[in-house]
Amino acid sequence: MPTRREFIRNSARAMAGIAFVGCDLLAARAAHSQAGGRRREVAVSGRRVKTVDVHAHCAVPEAMALMGLKPQPQTLVMGQDRIRAMDEQGIDVEALSINPYWYKAERDVARALIRIQNEKLAELCASRPDRFVAFATVALQYPDLAAEQLEEGVKKLGLRGGSIGCSVNGEELSDPKFLPFWAKAEQLGVLVFIHPQAAGVAAEIPRRLKGNGGLENVIGNPLETTIALSHLIFEGTLDRLPGLKICAAHGGGYLPSYAARSDAGCVTFPDRCPKPLKKRPTEYLRQLYYDSIVFTPEALRHLAAEVGSSQIVMGTDYPFPWMKTAVDHILSTPGLSDAERAAMLGETASRLLGIKA
Ligand SMILES: [Zn+2]
Repeated sequence: MPTRREFIRNSARAMAGIAFVGCDLLAARAAHSQAGGRRREVAVSGRRVKTVDVHAHCAVPEAMALMGLKPQPQTLVMGQDRIRAMDEQGIDVEALSINPYWYKAERDVARALIRIQNEKLAELCASRPDRFVAFATVALQYPDLAAEQLEEGVKKLGLRGGSIGCSVNGEELSDPKFLPFWAKAEQLGVLVFIHPQAAGVAAEIPRRLKGNGGLENVIGNPLETTIALSHLIFEGTLDRLPGLKICAAHGGGYLPSYAARSDAGCVTFPDRCPKPLKKRPTEYLRQLYYDSIVFTPEALRHLAAEVGSSQIVMGTDYPFPWMKTAVDHILSTPGLSDAERAAMLGETASRLLGIKA
């Protein structure tokens, strides 16, 4: 944890560094067009669709410096490669988010860090309002502060929602202590993007996830999301705040793949579902949103069958190269109507994030 003196020095450095990235992006646009870079324009049956990537990471080094951290990989820092990649992949707008690394920070550090980070996100978006919107970051370990930060981010800085982890220092998002944050999100009517992090399942069962395959990521991340969504359903958070708009990363993890077991569990062992829910567990899946990072046409078809095509929004996980063909994945999945494809490619996300057509 930084000392107070380090913290003040880091803050001053951070504020001094704030002016640059917007200029880099404008320079990137000029360099890209000079180099003859072609922007892929996506159309469905001849009709241009504004595509939106809801799962795009970035980093604000000035904010990370307050915790003594540096962006890894460097491509998380907004720069010239970003718009080039978007143009190549046919992404018109990225909704930027930052994975939480500040959940263990003291309150004053967390407050300053989020202020710098959200101001910088707003500045990035303002530099290219046609290409970027962003989710506010919040210090969810202090739920009252997180509610304030979300409101300020949305109302004062023009950010379009909030992004959070799947758990906070081992506590579930359904814990009543987080209700002030959830209530604020519902009141503002904004989307909350939930992304798993290494501090979740991977930190709780590290021994089982060792070895080849990067299991802490390939299994741990979707499992973390599965657990988070299940708690929000079974602990009654979604009953209490029915207007919540939540988007889960990586297609909602494993939950939509095996959702019927949640219903069957309540039938088989009714004593394990003591709080009567207002709906069957799987029905809540149809009020949540999911990114399209499920890799195959069959997986996307199945996700749409389980949750409804209206609940799926395109994601890439940029700059991590999980899904460089997100547009073609949606265009090539059989059985979708043109309207469903257009909705997934960008129309649903545009509506949720206030992006103009
Ligand atoms: Zn991601």
